[in-house]
Amino acid sequence: MSELAYPYEAPASQALFDRAAAVTPGGVNSPVRAFGAVGGTPRFMVSGTGPYLTDADGREYVDLVCSWGPMILGHAHPEVVAAVQEAVARGTSFGTPAEGEVALAEAMVERVAPLEQVRLVSSGTEATMSAIRLARGFTRRTKVIKFAGCYHGHVDSLLAAAGSGVATFALPDTPGVTGAQASDTIVLPYNDLDAVHAAFAAHPGEIACVITEASPGNMGVVPPLPGFNQGLKDACAANGALFVSDEVMTGFRTSRAGWYGVEGVVPDLMTFGKVMGGGFPAAAFGGRADVMAHLAPAGPVYQAGTLSGNPVATAAGLAQLRLLDEAVYGKINATSAQIQGLVGEALSKEGVAHTIQTASNMFSVFFTDGPVRNYADAKAQESFRFTAFFHSLLANGVYLPPSSFESWFVSAAHDERAVQRIADALPAAARAAAEATA
Ligand code: PLP
Repeated sequence: MSELAYPYEAPASQALFDRAAAVTPGGVNSPVRAFGAVGGTPRFMVSGTGPYLTDADGREYVDLVCSWGPMILGHAHPEVVAAVQEAVARGTSFGTPAEGEVALAEAMVERVAPLEQVRLVSSGTEATMSAIRLARGFTRRTKVIKFAGCYHGHVDSLLAAAGSGVATFALPDTPGVTGAQASDTIVLPYNDLDAVHAAFAAHPGEIACVITEASPGNMGVVPPLPGFNQGLKDACAANGALFVSDEVMTGFRTSRAGWYGVEGVVPDLMTFGKVMGGGFPAAAFGGRADVMAHLAPAGPVYQAGTLSGNPVATAAGLAQLRLLDEAVYGKINATSAQIQGLVGEALSKEGVAHTIQTASNMFSVFFTDGPVRNYADAKAQESFRFTAFFHSLLANGVYLPPSSFESWFVSAAHDERAVQRIADALPAAARAAAEATA
């Protein structure tokens, strides 16, 4: 589809995209940014303030992506920026231990009860990759159960039937991943405990862990059915496997203690990223002290990182976590509910079939009657309606995730003015969705 098919142009972004495409595959450094699912010119952003982003053409958008979750206080929060400036002035990387790492680990352990020990890394992918290695090293088993539509980063063995960009682009399963890695991954339908029990029965003594998004957001928001996560935990305990809860997206977002704080199911290992880095590359995995004791240098399972616990990233993450009290979560949840209400109202008014699913303040809109309980349900939606909806909102200054398989993210900086701008843009977008054809 040519750029002119859209009701506006973005010449400066297009020029940057053309330059980028010459030196970077597909012109982006992470696939979903390329607008592949919705078409058109990806917006190159030059600045962010509070709930707003400004692109290279000088257009301002209400941001409902929030860097895919991390910017929970909005962009350039003054206290986070001040903490970063103070840290940068003291040096950007030491390659030695430093107090900031300890303080961030303490803040996490204090908030999330099952986290007895934590190891800092630089991305969510590293966190899940390391957690899986540790689970295998601890149990001396090889196989991993994951769920279709759950995304745990681009870890080789976890790319099978993954959500997020893999879902957006309908990529074939894991080219570049060896058969051995793929065969060690058992992919099951989400929210299906019978399938989990059957897999344990079929592979006695072979399954190292079950990894799941604590509440999935990478096939759109598909929360666990009541009892599902507890059922996973129990099945793991009964079979000598570890239960790994991936809270990279939900951690410190869905509550002060993440999804654990909402549901209370105690995992053996957990992974984190996004919010805990305050917009910088910081992530972590952790959990039971007896399991973490197997990690080098305390134990034999190797794991390391030149920039792990980077002083600027830990300062940003710590500043952000300290600002996130119950009142802030209450405000984000209320704003999220308000936006959900406006979206639902606009779509209903135009007679567009839709389902809005939530996990605390995370939510997404599926263009189907629903409910959406797993990846197959998510894929059954009318994504072409999302494309029209997305482009109408973009043209009117609202920036959504450029895919119908993603959560929308709200920040504490989304105020009445920002919400009003969304409200003003919604009627035309709902009309566009209603009129869209496959
Ligand atoms: N796990 C989950 C649940 C995620 O949502 C993501 C990223 O979106 C990751 C892991 C990977 O994190 P990163 O992109 O920092 O590697």
